[in-house]
This record gives sequence, C-alpha cells and structure tokens, in this order.
Amino acid sequence: MLHPPTSFPAAASPSAGQEAAAGEPLVRFRGVQKTYDGVHLVVQHLDLDIRRGEFLTLLGPSGSGKTTTLMMLAGFESPTAGDIVLEGRPITRTPPHKRHFGMVFQNYALFPHLSVGRNVAYPLTVRKVAKAEQEQRVARALGMVRLDGMAERLPSQLSGGQQQRVALARALVFEPQLVLMDEPLGALDKQLREHMQIELKDLHRQLGVTFVYVTHDQGEALTMSDRVAVFNDGAIQQIDVVDRMYEAPANRFVAGFIGDSTALKGTVRATHVDDSSDRCGIVLTDGRVISGVNVNIRDRETDKPVVKKAKKDQKQDKRSGAGGTQSSADTKTGAAPAPAPTPVEAPKKQ
Ligand code: ADP
Ligand code: MG
Repeated sequence: MLHPPTSFPAAASPSAGQEAAAGEPLVRFRGVQKTYDGVHLVVQHLDLDIRRGEFLTLLGPSGSGKTTTLMMLAGFESPTAGDIVLEGRPITRTPPHKRHFGMVFQNYALFPHLSVGRNVAYPLTVRKVAKAEQEQRVARALGMVRLDGMAERLPSQLSGGQQQRVALARALVFEPQLVLMDEPLGALDKQLREHMQIELKDLHRQLGVTFVYVTHDQGEALTMSDRVAVFNDGAIQQIDVVDRMYEAPANRFVAGFIGDSTALKGTVRATHVDDSSDRCGIVLTDGRVISGVNVNIRDRETDKPVVKKAKKDQKQDKRSGAGGTQSSADTKTGAAPAPAPTPVEAPKKQ
C-alpha cells in the first residue's frame, strides 16, 4: 500500500472558496475541437466536465483522441476551437507550467543524472520552495509511494515499478489539485500493473485530489475509476460511472468495448418487469426463444436504447390489467417485430 500522510494536499481540506465552489466542476471543456492537419478532427466536439476530487478515466482504442485531450488539458497542445475552463477561468491559452498540474507519463521521464530525491524535488526547486521545506516534502512524498530511504539512488538503480513511483511522487510533491496520467502503468508487467492500480486508487481515495487518467485498457479503467469517458474517433461515446457502463451501454461501440458481450439479432416478445426480475423474452431469427436478463433494446436505425420506454409501457400495461406487452421498438416502428440486434445478457464482470 502507498502511505499518504495524515494531511496532504489542499484538496483534502478545501479552503472556504473551494468549498463554495464545490458544486462546480473543476474543469470544463466547452466545444473543444482539435485538428493537426487542418482537415481531420482528431477531437470532434468535446463538452466534458471534470468533477472536483473524482478519478476520471479517458478510455478508448488507440488513436481515439485520448492523449490529445489530455495534452490540451495539460497545455502542451492548443485546441483548434472551444475553451477549457478551470474553476470558472479560461486556461485555453495558459502555458503548462502556469496550470500547476501534476503529470505522469508512460515513460517515467525522470532526469537520469539526478538522484531520486532531486528528481522528486524538481517541481519544488522551480517553484523556489526553501531547501528545508523541500527536504520535508520530498521525504513525505517518497514515503507515500513506499520509497523511503531511496532518495540518494539514481533512477537507473531502481526497477521500472520503482521509477514509476518516483514519477508519481514528483507529480504529487507540489500538492497539485489535478493530476494527469497518460498510460502510466503501460510499461510495467501485468502483476506490478495490477498492484499499482490498487495503490493508485487507494492513494486517490485518501488524498482527495482530482485524477484524470488515460488508458486503452478497459480492465484498468473499471478497476480504478469513479467515472469513465469512453472515446472513439475523437468523440466521447458515453461518460458514466463504471456500473452504468456495464448495465446501460449507450451504444454498440460501448457495449463492445466494455466487458465481454454478445450481440444477437432477435425480436423482443415480452418484458416481465417487476420488483424481483428484469427479464425479457426474445425470439431469435431461427425461431428459438430465449430469456434475457438485463436486456438493452436498441432501435435498429438509430442504435439508441429504447429499454426505458419498454419498461414504462410495461408498467402502464400492468396498471391497465393488460396481459402481454409489445416492445416499444415494435410499437415505434409499427413494423413487424424488428428491434435491433440485441445484447441479451449483461456483460459478465471480470
Ligand atoms: P490516443 O491517445 O487515443 O491513442 P491520440 O490523441 O494520440 O490518440 O491521437 C489521435 C489522432 O491524432 C491519431 O490519429 C494520431 O495519429 C493523431 N495525432 C496525434 N498526435 C499528433 C501530432 N502531433 N501530429 C499529427 N497527428 C497527431
Ligand atoms: Mg495515447
């Protein structure tokens, strides 16, 4: 386990001003777009609120625009259009060092010629923090990441996992309110990666700092995050708490990307929604009938969920004493029963 000190960043004990603004998102992306070549939008139109104190993960396949989004937040890339607002103030044109965010990347990026202690002290040195206070803070940050006693070593004398902990200590030592991480565990072996996931989540919980984390690994995202934003092709497909991603994927892309799911073509025959079950009869194209649990019904044309309407119809039917029901997809299209390919079971959690 990592060991946070009893009192650490300001975010853990907000000032009066921060408390007043507690309901406000910490960061807002408003209509943000990005193109590198003037033609293709790698970030299409991003409206994203980052809540104070949350662990938000940007999840998506390679090339979906996650790093570009994080780099715009960090200030290393400028949006082509739109604004990024921090605590109500636009920071779109604020240089990275004036944003005061902690950052951790995949390749550690430690100074090889500086000791571990000097590496961690670096953000304090550039902020001209007094020597004695630097020493205290460095010792505390190294304790948090379980590297007590390692301050004199060079990065080359540490394992990959230890080097990544140094990078984490360096990102936290100046007590930022926001820490940005881009695939920080990508270079570690599986066992260490999973161990560090738990430690990061634990540290986040105890410090109360806002984390924005980029990964293409859905298991990693679901293990650690409060909320996940699923990216595809430069756009957020869904932003939600982890459970909702499983239970109610917003479209086929999310259903396919999160967990293991199987899509079947069929016709919704009846729903049996009551307090104890959430079942649905489905007639497959070969005539077999199966009973699905936690079924997400989508319109074939729009790929939009229609399950809520189906439930509502069911309740109304119950009240009116009607027996069977018809899915809203059927009712809506007025066609012979023809809902979209329908995932019939909720993805199994791993
Ligand atoms: P992700 O982090 O999700 O893998 P990126 O944000 O790195 O995605 O990339 C999104 C798209 O932008 C990709 O098509 C990538 O090739 C392109 N891209 C990223 N950085 C640059 C750059 N500096 N110049 C030109 N194209 C870039
Ligand atoms: Mg990336």
